Amino acid sequence: MSDSVLVVGGGPAGLSAAHALASAGIKVDLVEKADILGGAPILSGYAKLVPSGEWAKDAIGSMVDRVVANPNIKVHLNSVVQTFDGKPGKFDAVLKNGTKIKAGATVLCTGFTHFDSVNKPEWGFGRFPDVVTTTQVEQMISSGKGVRRPSNGEKPKRVAILLCVGSRDRQIGREWCSKICCSVSANLAMEIREELPDCHVYIYYMDIRTFGLLETKYYWRSQEEFKVKYIKARIAEVTGRDGQVLVKGEDTLVKRPISIPFDMVVHAVGMDPNVDNMLLSSVFDVKLEPNGFVDRKNTYGIMGASSRDGVFVAGSATGPETIDDSIAQGAAAAMSALASLREMA
Ligand SMILES: Cc1cc2nc3c(=O)[nH]c(=O)nc-3n(C[C@H](O)[C@H](O)[C@H](O)COP(=O)(O)OP(=O)(O)OC[C@H]3O[C@@H](n4cnc5c(N)ncnc54)[C@H](O)[C@@H]3O)c2cc1C
Ligand code: SF4
Repeated sequence: MSDSVLVVGGGPAGLSAAHALASAGIKVDLVEKADILGGAPILSGYAKLVPSGEWAKDAIGSMVDRVVANPNIKVHLNSVVQTFDGKPGKFDAVLKNGTKIKAGATVLCTGFTHFDSVNKPEWGFGRFPDVVTTTQVEQMISSGKGVRRPSNGEKPKRVAILLCVGSRDRQIGREWCSKICCSVSANLAMEIREELPDCHVYIYYMDIRTFGLLETKYYWRSQEEFKVKYIKARIAEVTGRDGQVLVKGEDTLVKRPISIPFDMVVHAVGMDPNVDNMLLSSVFDVKLEPNGFVDRKNTYGIMGASSRDGVFVAGSATGPETIDDSIAQGAAAAMSALASLREMA
């Protein structure tokens, strides 16, 4: 029997799982397919996080540092698991580069994939340079360059943020709410207003889901303190006119058609299942739920149990999750993995 654990994915959930296990004296192999740890907040260059307001590079960077410094954790970058066989207590994994790993249990923390806005062609992404995504605006802010129109490098005077791009959209097979994008968008709107006080920022929404305590911190604060304007609308298309981008649709409160020019339009992209999930499902022999995220065996039983004994799952691999929930799930799945090792010892 092996008393080490294989953690796959080095984002917030995987960093948390690896750290929790290592703190309990367990040896961990952490396998990450990118060339750096940190997951989406680092790989996609997020700016200030919801709800802490900390810069992603500092908050998640410190999680990376404590994992890298822990002698119980061996990090395998640029790596994916090619084969995975065995049973609880005795799993054998082989990485693509041939490295063999023995593990008593595994925690899958392989996260999500950002929705690709080209799959919503009528909303202008890929056709008009000033139609961008929330991740691109995060990068503009986190790089220190500031929010600028990609077409001419100028400061925008009017910005529209369109919510639910790639979420809650049956037409393109994405029924789920991505949970965090309302709050992330309100946060970005405030950051834009802070940097560019002359810029008017409008948020177009179906309904607002700044859940829990985020309602005060983001929904109300963005309006009352930062004068961000919210418009309930159904957007039909985004086109171009005279060097600007035109948002067309219907204001659903007053039931009137709208056609409004902006300097920049931002897609609040949702969280898709990881594009690797079909492969991960076959390599690790775990079930996916109907939307394509990794299925959990139960909700209230063993935390993070997947459909296969000894294989646990945490974070946004299981569906849209926030960073703090992903971190909590990573630690909980680590606890379940540890308990499974102890039960077999
Ligand atoms: C635009 C945007 C902004 C957001 N901002 C916030 C915010 O401010 N606050 C907040 O709480 N949440 C935010 N989120 C959500 C946040 O990104 C997730 O909650 C978080 O990244 C989930 O962490 P994770 O570890 O589960 O997954 P990920 O961050 O996706 O990490 C998964 C890791 O696994 C690796 N991986 C994937 N497949 C494999 C494989 N086959 N083998 C090995 N490794 C693999 C990936 O490279 C990655 O490093 C935002 C989401 C979006 C879309
Ligand atoms: S969190 Fe808001 S923007 Fe994101 S999918 Fe849900 S309702 Fe739409």
